[in-house]
Amino acid sequence: MKEFRTGEIGSLRTWNPDVLVGPIDQILPLAVAPGHGISPSTAVVVVTAPGKLGLTGHDRDRLWRAFGVPIFEFRRSKNGRIVARECEMHDGLHIERGSKAEPAEGEEVVFEECECGRTSPRLRTAEARAAAADAAD
Ligand SMILES: [Zn+2]
Repeated sequence: MKEFRTGEIGSLRTWNPDVLVGPIDQILPLAVAPGHGISPSTAVVVVTAPGKLGLTGHDRDRLWRAFGVPIFEFRRSKNGRIVARECEMHDGLHIERGSKAEPAEGEEVVFEECECGRTSPRLRTAEARAAAADAAD
């Protein structure tokens, strides 16, 4: 793992990361920057802030077009700890055991078992719920 500061993002081109992890306000601009040259081979993880809206479907489309790898959202707490993570089913963010992840505006906490098999509560938007329903059809 290597950490890059905002001014060093260009160095990611030569690093060739397997997974690109960063805050939403630094990852989303890369998705619209032509020729950014950063090509993670496995996934992009976008870290979102508590109380703020998470990734939208539009954001995900842009990230997919830019990077061509699965996109995952992780939610952090105010002190920077990861408190919820999206799984490969992309149907909400599983709240980490013992964490208090408050839903953002437009999100709800759902308690039904996820198709990944985990039973932990999830933060989910109506948009994510609709997308998951479409995928199940
Ligand atoms: Zn899951």
